[in-house]
Amino acid sequence: MSYMDHSATSPVDPEVLEAMLPYFKESFGNASTLYSLGREARTAMEKARKQVASLIGARAEEVYFTSGGTESDNLAIKGTISRLKGKGNHIITSAIEHPAVEETCKYLEKNGYTVTYLPVGEDGIVKMEDLKESTREDTILITIMHANNEIGTIQPIKEIGALAREKGILFHTDAVQSVGKIPVNVEDMNVDLLSISAHKLHGPKGVGALYIRKGVRIDPLFHGGGHERGVRPGTENIPGIVGLGKACQLAEENLYENMEYVASLRDQLIKGVLGSIEQSFLNGHPTKRLPNNANFRFSSIEGESLILQLDFKGINASTGSACSSNKLEPSHVLMAIGLEEVDAHGSLRISLGKENTPKDIDSSIVVIKEVVERLRSMSPLWCPGGN
Ligand SMILES: *Cc1c(COP(=O)(O)O)cnc(C)c1O
Repeated sequence: MSYMDHSATSPVDPEVLEAMLPYFKESFGNASTLYSLGREARTAMEKARKQVASLIGARAEEVYFTSGGTESDNLAIKGTISRLKGKGNHIITSAIEHPAVEETCKYLEKNGYTVTYLPVGEDGIVKMEDLKESTREDTILITIMHANNEIGTIQPIKEIGALAREKGILFHTDAVQSVGKIPVNVEDMNVDLLSISAHKLHGPKGVGALYIRKGVRIDPLFHGGGHERGVRPGTENIPGIVGLGKACQLAEENLYENMEYVASLRDQLIKGVLGSIEQSFLNGHPTKRLPNNANFRFSSIEGESLILQLDFKGINASTGSACSSNKLEPSHVLMAIGLEEVDAHGSLRISLGKENTPKDIDSSIVVIKEVVERLRSMSPLWCPGGN
């Protein structure tokens, strides 16, 4: 069995699980209580806050715990614009955001906000000229993801952040796919708000964080007790938070080593697939992409059949993002980079992790080739040598 869908979720690291267990058992306290059991929970939570902050170059007091990437994105966007009510109603985003940002923006459009969806080139990257041209007097927020969850492309966040700062516009980035995989530093990147999710970096599901730069004020989405300094009330998920912290610590310790290892697997995969399967192509930017992402397209192949056949052979991969894999429309990301609908349907995302091995890659190249050729032999559309 080869799990190769780390952009959908990643297995919890055994050390992360180990760190979490006491907080389900003997150390089950509520972090808001004053006696020692509560203090223990609070101490564990503050340690985790430091671990998260350290991975992204932030101060602990700039990290707020949430229930995951989706909540962090919603809180960043809605919290900012609510706070800036009256200052403007224009938001800039990209055409390839994760649904947690895309759907939030669409919702805001229905509620009186104007949203510019910046196009991307064939390489999946936004153009700074387009961004410059789209800023207006009434622009209050730019939200552009760091690394894409489908094609892995990495946006010029530092430049975008510099422009936002120059224009006095707040800048949020969804860094759910990049944190723990490539260096992320909120100072270098000029970001004001940044979203993290634990389960994408070998932590547990249902917990995440939002970085909010000191001095940036946002409104909460929920109202309740004063947890997380009122920004995110609700009794804290201590085991989850401890797991997120541990996952961040491990990611920081092994960042460069893992990056290099996983990128070598990815390059082995890309070389093997493109070299052995005719009419196969790589979607997205050739180099400005996550070390663990390869997104292929095979002409005359139907992605869903490919995924199911690969599953029979013990390979877990996906077509578009997990969230769109039960929809019939082609991925909005693949359409945004200019693919035809049939090609978008014939795409395969493989996202690797530190537990994959060179042997897994070799055998998966053989399996992918076999499955693609078998599906093509049954397809009336297939035309060897090109069509
Ligand atoms: C997975 C993902 C999210 C959502 O995070 P959850 O913790 O699953 O809610 C948001 N943005 C990106 C880019 C993602 O890959």
